[in-house]
Amino acid sequence: MRHYLKPMSSHRHIGCAHCGALNRVPAERLGDDPVCGRCQAPLLPGEPVELRDDNFDAVAGKSDLPVLVDFWAPWCGPCRMMAPAFAQAAQQLKGRALLVKVDTDANPALAQRFAIRSIPTLVRLDAGREVKRQAGALPAGQIVAMAR
Ligand SMILES: [Zn+2]
Repeated sequence: MRHYLKPMSSHRHIGCAHCGALNRVPAERLGDDPVCGRCQAPLLPGEPVELRDDNFDAVAGKSDLPVLVDFWAPWCGPCRMMAPAFAQAAQQLKGRALLVKVDTDANPALAQRFAIRSIPTLVRLDAGREVKRQAGALPAGQIVAMAR
């Protein structure tokens, strides 16, 4: 007697940061610059995307890829210092993770929901659930490691 394993899903769901539509992308196409079926915006641009209180859940909560959220604010020096490292990590993780920035001044509901006490704070979400958190600026290598 044999047991056949159910095949793993070969698709990933990715929420569009531009229009909020949930897209279904074949796993083998994740590295091919997939675009949103509704608005044609790039789904995995290889650079950080800005999310807000009103579209965070549609993207970060529903995407199957690991999501790394950088909680920051424009007046925060260490946040600005880390921005190039975060952008570099987004490039390295293109097609494998979604890197997201949330301005805590402009989006107080998210800052409160995640109980952000200092910035920058990085939060890793899997299927919308927090699995890791790190406060303070990090170099690109450590940001990449957090998404793996
Ligand atoms: Zn879209």
